[in-house]
Amino acid sequence: MTDIQCLDEVTIQAIIDGEETDISLTKHLDNCPACQGLKKQVAELVKTSDGLRIDADLPPEFYENLMDRIEVRPFPIALLAAVLFGLVLFSAYFLNPGYITWWFTVGITHQVGLIFDIFFDLLVLSQALGPLSVITVLTALVAIEVLILNKLRVMEG
Ligand SMILES: [Zn+2]
Repeated sequence: MTDIQCLDEVTIQAIIDGEETDISLTKHLDNCPACQGLKKQVAELVKTSDGLRIDADLPPEFYENLMDRIEVRPFPIALLAAVLFGLVLFSAYFLNPGYITWWFTVGITHQVGLIFDIFFDLLVLSQALGPLSVITVLTALVAIEVLILNKLRVMEG
C-alpha cells in the first residue's frame, strides 16, 4: 500500500471534489489509514469553513467604517477619475485622431466646457458619495465618450 507516497491535503480535497480521478491515488486513499485520517480532517475543515461562511454576518458598522476609511482619501479617487478621463480622450484620439483634432480645431468651446463641467461635477459627487460612485464616474465617462463620438460623427457626416 506504500507503492506511492501519502497524499497531501490539496490532493485529498481534489479527490473529494471529484477533480482528481487518478486511480492509483484514489486506491491509495482507500487503503491507507493515514490518508483516511487526513481525508476526515479535510472533510471536517470544509464543513467548518462552510459553517463559518454562513454564520459570519458582517456587522453593519463594517461598511460604514470602510466607507469612512476610504472617504478620508478623496484625492486618489479624483486622480483616478482624471487619469481615466485622460485615457478616454487618448483612446478616442487613438481610435480616430481626426475626431479630436477636428473637435479642437473647429473649437466647439461650449461643448468642451460642458463636458468638463460634467467631469468636475462627477468628481465632486464621487468625493461626496464615496468609492461606489467611482463606478458611476466610469460609466459616465464611457457615456461621454460615446456621446462625443456620436456627435462628431453626426456633425461630420
Ligand atoms: Zn497514505
